[in-house]
Amino acid sequence: MNSTTFAFIDEDAKKEIRRSLLKAVALPGYIVPFASREMPVARGWGTGGLQITLSIILERDVLKVIDQGCDASVNAVNIRDFITEVTGVKETVNTSEASIIQTRHRIPEHEFAKDEKQILVFQVPTPEVLTTVEPDTAKQKQMHANSDYAKLWVLLYEDTSQYGDSRISNRYPVLINDHYVMDPSPIPKYDIPRMDNSPVLQLFGAGREKRIYAIPPYTSVKPLKFDDREFKVESFSGISCERCGAQNVFFDEVRRETGNHYFCSDTEYCDQHLEKSNAS
Ligand SMILES: [Zn+2]
Repeated sequence: MNSTTFAFIDEDAKKEIRRSLLKAVALPGYIVPFASREMPVARGWGTGGLQITLSIILERDVLKVIDQGCDASVNAVNIRDFITEVTGVKETVNTSEASIIQTRHRIPEHEFAKDEKQILVFQVPTPEVLTTVEPDTAKQKQMHANSDYAKLWVLLYEDTSQYGDSRISNRYPVLINDHYVMDPSPIPKYDIPRMDNSPVLQLFGAGREKRIYAIPPYTSVKPLKFDDREFKVESFSGISCERCGAQNVFFDEVRRETGNHYFCSDTEYCDQHLEKSNAS
């Protein structure tokens, strides 16, 4: 460790972020403003998630950082290197070993421990779910307070009547604890049911937009949908990973001249599955 502050951010700033986090946890799905600090990466590159992680991390924590399911992408590596540099904590790619997992746009494929001790920190570009239907921020607040999501329902209805289903592919609106509707960050629909009743504490940070929100462990998370409609996630039936042979996971699609190729989006899952298949 060098002589700079543990975890880069000064203690007053950490305190302010932790207070916002406490409020967010007490009101699941409610958006809490916070004084987003300058980070040594540009806003829009995970500064919200980074500030949350740096405010809650302890020396005993074990850190995993993923970008679209990948531990080795440039963004994930840079963020992980920075956090381990300013904290000295142990890093891992192993989901079950990690106490804090910072993620961009995916939830790890492996199941979490049931003891509520793991924390998932999401990097969020657009925290306000109502932006697409109501640009006025004062009105948005009022709508949230009244649980008035009529405009979102109308959007959903228009899509369903015209196209047979919602056209929203990611950032699918979710109802938290039967009250607030929330933006789950740009995770695929595949990950939405996996947020429901999850044993992990899910924290969401938007650095550029200066907003924090949260879902405590074992909280109800339901996609906004009509009762007589099924919530359809991305379908990969009949597809298996070209590298490890896994099925029934979320795939990255790579388009080449030879056609479409599919690989596990979660690289840790892919590595472990490959190891298992080679061993057997
Ligand atoms: Zn694979």
